[in-house]
Amino acid sequence: MFFENYFKNYIIHEQETRSNNIVSSINKLYNNGNFDVNSIENLGMIALEEGMIIKVKDNQNNIIWDATLHNNGLCKQMLEHMAQNMSNKYLNENAGYVENKYNILSDSNVVGTLELGYYGPFYFNDHDLSFINGINKIIFVVGIITLLLSLIIGSIISNRITKPILKVINKTKHISDGYFDEVITDKSNTKEIAELISSVNDLAKKLENQENLRKKLTSNVAHELRTPLTSIKVNLEAMIDGVLEIDERRLKSCNEEISRLTRLVSDLEKLTNCENENLVLNKEKFDLFEIINSIIKIFEKDFIDKNISVKINGNIYNEKIIIYADKDKIIQIIINILSNSIKYSKKSINIDINITKVKKNNNEYINIAFKDNGIGISKENLPYIFERFYMVDKSRNSSLGGSGIGLTICKAIIEAHNGNIKINSELDIGTEIIIELPNISV
Ligand code: ADP
Repeated sequence: MFFENYFKNYIIHEQETRSNNIVSSINKLYNNGNFDVNSIENLGMIALEEGMIIKVKDNQNNIIWDATLHNNGLCKQMLEHMAQNMSNKYLNENAGYVENKYNILSDSNVVGTLELGYYGPFYFNDHDLSFINGINKIIFVVGIITLLLSLIIGSIISNRITKPILKVINKTKHISDGYFDEVITDKSNTKEIAELISSVNDLAKKLENQENLRKKLTSNVAHELRTPLTSIKVNLEAMIDGVLEIDERRLKSCNEEISRLTRLVSDLEKLTNCENENLVLNKEKFDLFEIINSIIKIFEKDFIDKNISVKINGNIYNEKIIIYADKDKIIQIIINILSNSIKYSKKSINIDINITKVKKNNNEYINIAFKDNGIGISKENLPYIFERFYMVDKSRNSSLGGSGIGLTICKAIIEAHNGNIKINSELDIGTEIIIELPNISV
């Protein structure tokens, strides 16, 4: 349709050009007061072949040359052929014989008139029609080929997309059934599909970890509760049965176990509070340096007993380091870390506390690093150190009053402050715990 419309406009324009050419040619055939009848006849015959019927008259309305008088039969036949050509396919109510009148000029004087008739408003001759049909055929074939190609390419592409998506759907069904171990190994060149596959694999891995953690947590809690409860039960039963004498030492031992249980429950409560997504932090501005100094004073006796020397260093040593955070929770973290250094060290160690300000991605952070040269932690244990109930040496830990929750609480508090906590440690060399808190007081 577009092509035929375009072609129609082209033909109308061509008709106008041809009409103008005939008018200007006829103008030139009037010389010295006379029309060159022979040349007009030649021109008229050529025009007739091109589908135009011309009639030339002088000023007195005398006919100089008239195509219909010259060969009326041919004119009629030609017009009929044109009407037939156009009626088949290009029905147009306004179509038909059109006649335009032009003045013939010589030196700007009107010397006669030219009547130019043709089939209008446009007409396609046999060549034009076969050209249009040829182009239409090509467009049709190209259209069919394009349609087939797009169907083939479309099905290949949709196959490439749907196949991995179906695998992802299957995998997610498996995940929802609790099978986390299968990994989608298929690779996809489509970026989004590749991301979807890796996200689902990550999701499965994380869910598996969570599931393992949940199972471990339950067994750890059961274990942590069983040991003191058994000890209390055995002691109390023996005392009730009269097997053991009720004395102060045994009652004290039972009391110690109960204290251990109370401590464990309170640690668990603290952890639940810190890991609560709706944890409300009571943030306030306070001097970190002052807080660390006052906590060091709390541990003074332990430091003296174990001959531990503590130093606070850093490029802002002795300056006020105002931070905006939950003071009680930060105090809790520092106490946990310092008490670990004291608990898990032999005598005569050094604890260095370094406070620095660092810039990362245009944000300022306060780094607090606690470094001791105590017993350290082996490489195998290090990755699990922030996990709840994780203890390097269970029996030793329990005897020291630990339950493996201290560092888990620290991590939860720091993350609630949008900070980070890292640990570096080497067996028999020492441990360094680095806390990174966003410095939003600046
Ligand atoms: P707990 O509450 O029992 O102290 P934590 O979560 O604080 O548990 O610590 C987990 C484990 O990390 C402990 O069992 C201990 O073995 C190890 N640990 C923590 N801090 C240190 C340290 N400064 N030096 C050596 N071992 C440490």
